[in-house]
Amino acid sequence: MNILLIGPPGAGKGTQAKRLEEAFGMIQLSTGDMLRAAVASGSAVGQQAKEIMDRGDLVPDALIIDMISERIDRDDCAGGFILDGFPRTVPQADALTKMLVEKDISLDRVIEIAVDDDAMVTRITGRLTCANCGKGYHDEFEKPEVDGVCDKCGATEFNRRADDNAETVRNRLAAYHEQTAPILAYYKDRGVLSSVDGMAQMDDVTGQLKGVIEGA
Ligand code: AMP
Repeated sequence: MNILLIGPPGAGKGTQAKRLEEAFGMIQLSTGDMLRAAVASGSAVGQQAKEIMDRGDLVPDALIIDMISERIDRDDCAGGFILDGFPRTVPQADALTKMLVEKDISLDRVIEIAVDDDAMVTRITGRLTCANCGKGYHDEFEKPEVDGVCDKCGATEFNRRADDNAETVRNRLAAYHEQTAPILAYYKDRGVLSSVDGMAQMDDVTGQLKGVIEGA
């Protein structure tokens, strides 16, 4: 089964995608993670994307579409995938539809994680991940049991995303409303859209998502 998670930055797409990956064996395809890896490696794509990402703007459609098309062709996607962060514009959604037809792959469900925008700035600016194992934490809502020590692996170094500062977050939220929200109507018209309440407790959101997937 192939699904797509849609929601503004901070809605919990990444966290929930990882949980669904474990529950259903589908693979998470996060264009944000792919771009951050490209930036870290210093590749041509990374160099092109870095400044745009630091501002919180969207990188050009063509670059993203090529990147995701190559990724979907890899063997590990054969058991199903969870798109996280793509498509983010109507032209990207159109390109995905065409691409999947050409590859003879279905998109079984598109799920909106609906959240209250005002809460997103606090959610995002407080988040951090363990530099060793990648476990996610939050300054207010999910602190490690021992201050400064990862619960999962014991490491003491943590990373924050360069674009998780208040100014960039506001720009990312604006980009979501202007450019990404219109794709909800695109998928509603095609009869594949569901919505879950992303303001609920994290486990509850996971339960709602599993319900949608199992019922699809
Ligand atoms: P994310 O990790 O999904 O929040 O993405 C981080 C940043 O990567 C975004 O603010 C954009 O600059 C860029 N990005 C990720 N996915 C896309 C996409 N599908 N289209 C354009 N830009 C993207």
